[in-house]
Formats: sequence, C-alpha cells, structure tokens
Amino acid sequence: MITVAEAKKILDKQAQQMLSFLPKTGRILPLTEVVGRITAEPISAPISVPLFDNSAMDGFAVRSADVKTASPDCPVILKIDGEARAGDSLKELGEPQTTIRIMTGAPLPLNADAVVMKEEAVEKNGGVLLSRPVAAGKNVRRKGEDFNAGDEAIPVGTKITPGVAGLMASLGIRNVPVKPKPRVSVIATGCELVSCLEALKPGKILESNSVFLKAALSEIGISPVRNAVIEDDPALIRERLVAAFEDCHQVASDVIIITGGVSVGDHDHTRSVLEGLGVTQLFWKVAQKPGKPFYVGTLDKKGEKGEKLIFGLPGNPYAVFVCFYLYIHPILLTLMGHPHPEPRRERLKLSRGIAKNDGRSHFLKGKTVQKNNETLAWPLKGQGSHLLGALTKTDILICVPAETREIKEGEEVEVVYLP
Ligand code: AMP
Ligand code: MG
Repeated sequence: MITVAEAKKILDKQAQQMLSFLPKTGRILPLTEVVGRITAEPISAPISVPLFDNSAMDGFAVRSADVKTASPDCPVILKIDGEARAGDSLKELGEPQTTIRIMTGAPLPLNADAVVMKEEAVEKNGGVLLSRPVAAGKNVRRKGEDFNAGDEAIPVGTKITPGVAGLMASLGIRNVPVKPKPRVSVIATGCELVSCLEALKPGKILESNSVFLKAALSEIGISPVRNAVIEDDPALIRERLVAAFEDCHQVASDVIIITGGVSVGDHDHTRSVLEGLGVTQLFWKVAQKPGKPFYVGTLDKKGEKGEKLIFGLPGNPYAVFVCFYLYIHPILLTLMGHPHPEPRRERLKLSRGIAKNDGRSHFLKGKTVQKNNETLAWPLKGQGSHLLGALTKTDILICVPAETREIKEGEEVEVVYLP
C-alpha cells in the first residue's frame, strides 16, 4: 500500500511522460467548439481593438478648445450639427463652435477630441449649453487601447473560458489552434448494476458511477468514446477493455476508467483481466479512505508512441468521486495542457471536531460555511463511501492526514475545493 503523496507523484510522472509523446502542434477547431480547451499557439490580434476612436458616452462630440472658457456664469453655446450613431461611418466636425450629437460606440468625428456627457449638457434652440471645460480625450475610447493589429492577444497555454471566446470573437478569430485532449473510455462493472432506464429487480441497485463520470468529464469538455455497464464476467470485461484499447488513437493520450471489481472479492476480476491483457500495474491500493483499492496501470501502444493509462476504481460511488477529483481530473487537465491542473487547496478551521482510528488519509465530504467573517470547513453527515446524499451540499473535500487521529473544532485542516 502506498501513500496518497506517493500515488500523486507516480501519476504526475506518468502524465509528464504521456505529454512528451503528444504532438506539439495543435488542432484547428471552430470557435464554437473550443470553450474549455487550451490554446496551442500564441494568437495575435488580426485587428486593433478598439478598431477606431469612438465615444464612451451618449453626449456631444466637441473640440475641447471650443469650450475652454466655459463656466456656470458664462456657458459656451455650441450649434448642434448632425448626429453620429453607433454603426455610422466617420463624420467630420465642421465650423468652430459646432458639435455633433454622438451615441456610445459611434466613431469620434474628425476634428473632435472629446465627448461631453449628455447629462452635463443643456439643449436649447438647436444648440447645447456647456458650463464646464472638457479635457481633450475625455470620454473617448482610443483605437488600439487593448490591442494594436499584430500584438500578441492570447498567449499559448491559455484556457479558453467563455470570456476568452468572447475576446476571440471580438478579434474576428474564427478558427483556433487548441491542444489535443485525451480520449477517455468509461466501463462500469458489477452484476448488481441496473441502468436507471431499466427496471429494478431484487438485489439489484441503480448504476451511478458511469453517469457521474460522464457528467464530470463533460464539465471539462470530454465526451467518452465508449461508455459501458457490464457484469462481473471476466470474458465480458476483457471484451470491453480490448474494444476500448482498440479505440485508442495515435495522436491522443488514451485513458480508460473502469469502476468496480478492483478489490479482493471472489468476483473482482478487473485486475486479473488487465494483467492478462499485458497492462503493467503502476500501483494498487492507496492508504486512503475512501478508495483504498485504487488501481492504476499502463499499456504500451503497439507500434505507436505513447501509452494508454488505465484507472481501476473501487465501485463505491463516493470512492469514485474522490479518486476522480483527486487523481483523474488533474491528470486529464494536465494532458489537455491546462496551465493549472491541480485543484485549489486551502487551510481552513473545522466547524466541528472529527476523529478517526486508522492510519489512512481520509477525504470527507465537506462544506464551506461563513462564521464571523471567516470561512470554516464543515464535515457533513453521511460520510459512508456508498452514500451520495451529502453531495447536494459538498463543495470541498476535507483532507485528514494519515497520521492524524483527531482534529478539534477550530483547528486547521487542509481542504480541496471541488471544481
Ligand atoms: P466493488 O468495488 O465492485 O466491490 O463495489 C463496491 C460497492 O460499490 C458495491 O456495493 C457495489 O454495489 C457498488 N457499486 C459498484 N459499481 C457501482 C456503480 N457503477 N454504481 C453504483 N454503485 C456501484
Ligand atoms: Mg463488484
């Protein structure tokens, strides 16, 4: 049995090795398909943003020199000479002492150098009364304020958030080079499992692991290439694994997640089937709760560069949850080139004391709560690894170190934030 830290270290090394096999160049995908992906190259701005000087306010475009002397006692009157709306082409301010009515986003007329807010102007008989001077550049959005054409706008390795997708659209970037993402297969095993669409029978339970995994993968933009629920039958398990291995792809990192049957029960066949298929065990059993029988193995890609990575998770649903977020989620993000693959960790005070009597690291369902302007970690009720009820509240995993037996209320503990 290895420690959580040792398991993490082995997986980190494995991830780096798999990354080194991946092609360095990205795939070009349409903008509509890249949210959540990572840019594979630096992207420069094809146009300046803003594209032209324009008004930041609804108001009046003026020459600041024309209103230099304006004061409440001696206001300046400018004649309104036309209108510039957003979307209009460039206008020109004519005679001195004239102004153009302007809307937010309209190109700043030639000869104008400032905009007076509508709220600061008094309209009268086709003219506008200004009782204060305005500084040149006031309420003007300058061309190239964010980027000049040719500037690097989006560095390589940027996560394409919805905001970054909006930025790309504003620059006219329609096709985006993104880093490759892993191909993932999910296999749930267990004779007791019934998918939620089928009728329950005596002794059977509703299958949830593959549903959870599919949902958690979809949050990082991965849709499993295969998704199967099968019985504890070595031949069936073998058949599904062979199919998953065959689906593997030359230019992708391949990950297979199989749940159930990885412990020492008489009908736990996963490990022996994997061994029979030539999978090399990286580790089996981690000193943690839940998820002690966690298994990881690798398989060479025949005749190709790289390796397939196989996660064997114990079947208990909360063990699957913990193993996924602690180990699999970070490694998938790493393989996708994500700049920050590890979850956020923090030390928080416990809102109530906890105790344990073994030498394993425990990962408790927890919730952050606010008390006297401080964030505390609240260990939830219903910690059993077969129970998911507390997940309606869970936003953190409370990490109780292996060697710790007790943490009192008010003492600090490390927590991992869930995505
Ligand atoms: P195992 O690791 O196969 O011994 O399973 C441990 C526990 O998890 C058993 O109580 C199983 O019924 C349960 N379990 C296994 N697979 C699933 C699944 N896909 N969905 C829900 N529960 C499961
Ligand atoms: Mg089982």
